[in-house]
Amino acid sequence: MVHSGKNTAVLGLGHSGEAAARLLLEEGARVTVCESNDSPATREKAAQLAQLGARILLGKDAETDPAHYDLAVISPGIDPAVPLVQNLLKKSIPLIGELELAYQECLCPTVAITGTNGKTTTTELTTHILSGAGLRTMACGNIGLPFATAVRESHRLDVMVLEVSSFQLETVRAFHPKVAAWLNLSPNHLDRYTGMEDYREAKLRIFENQTPNDWAVVNALSDLPDLPARRLTFSAKTANADFTLEGNTIFFRGAQVLDQNATRLQGIHNAENIMAALAIGFALDLDLDILARAIGEYAPPAHRCEFVRELDGVRWVNDSKATNLDSVEMAVRSQQGSLVLIAGGKDKGFTFDPVAQLVAERVGTAVLIGEMKDRIAASWKGTKCHTASSLDEAVSIARKLSRPGDTVLFSPGTSSFDMFRNYGERGNLFKSLVNQLNPHPPENP
Ligand code: ADP
Repeated sequence: MVHSGKNTAVLGLGHSGEAAARLLLEEGARVTVCESNDSPATREKAAQLAQLGARILLGKDAETDPAHYDLAVISPGIDPAVPLVQNLLKKSIPLIGELELAYQECLCPTVAITGTNGKTTTTELTTHILSGAGLRTMACGNIGLPFATAVRESHRLDVMVLEVSSFQLETVRAFHPKVAAWLNLSPNHLDRYTGMEDYREAKLRIFENQTPNDWAVVNALSDLPDLPARRLTFSAKTANADFTLEGNTIFFRGAQVLDQNATRLQGIHNAENIMAALAIGFALDLDLDILARAIGEYAPPAHRCEFVRELDGVRWVNDSKATNLDSVEMAVRSQQGSLVLIAGGKDKGFTFDPVAQLVAERVGTAVLIGEMKDRIAASWKGTKCHTASSLDEAVSIARKLSRPGDTVLFSPGTSSFDMFRNYGERGNLFKSLVNQLNPHPPENP
């Protein structure tokens, strides 16, 4: 009951803002919910919180609220530069995120997983194998279920597994995971951060409160400063790590642990996700053989190099979750044969130049969509590029240009918000368009 009786503001009425408001109300805090967006959907959500005792401020009222608070809780989706947040910062009100709020209430140890790519896969996989090894655990955070909701179950868990984004880490204070995993780092969210260094600094805060009794599970090729916790390293690209990959076999300090072919997680990026999950289990004193067996039973989440169907000898793969270039690179490298690549989406402030050479080598034709389509075509001069005004048109073009033996890979490389609500809606539309395609009629003898 850390916040009982406090006068608090919750900024943003998304998923995690709503969860934070409910948690604070349950604890007996006074809660004002401030949300710039004054739409019918927000009003409905706000009305439910008002019934529980929250005071609600929407639109301009939220941005110019003159009140003082003991504490404000900000949702990860809100940029600290917006008027709603600046209004509170200029009054020097302490600001924490929903991650920190929930952490202060959490009654079990936590595992936190961050990185530019692979967070959701590794969080799910870790939760799956820790349960397989007999721990009572649950996945939450950036993965969908807010930590502020899941934390109510913490008294009956052995460990909570959290997917954490750089946005959530920006506002931590006491947050202190028993095991912190750092998967990788590549350019992302440069529309919010002034540069890579700011983005990296935000992510590094995952290690900030750890001690030598804790563990840092880190990619051996990531350039990291000295860390307070004990390190366990992994890499699919160098033998200089605790967990390594040789061919398809994963090793721990020279001893064979797992054949990746016996799992449904393919590609070297997934080998690294597997190694990170195994390392987390090892840090929690679990048996590697039991963890490895549980990996064999795990099915990866949708929209991540998800096989959709084979039609007339062409494989169609949905990788709508690829919202940056590293994940495009991984997806392209993990496919066999010649590729037709559908890419493009929102302009997030980076260029597609870094993958131009790989695309020129591995992709026969690219079909480009969204806000960035012309900029990508300009970057990918060594590849035949077509542009399309919708995903529907892109699928038709890919259908016409693909030949038996090809793979059509939908790996956008950037986010979906220019045309869709989120990557899930984008991936589902892709799958439904592909599933509606009819086979070519047989040729006349
Ligand atoms: P996140 O939650 O960090 O966005 P996901 O597990 O949802 O990560 O995967 C996002 C995208 O990144 C997918 O396209 C997936 O194929 C790719 N990916 C998954 N793991 C890795 C990794 N370790 N390195 C690079 N790309 C990855």
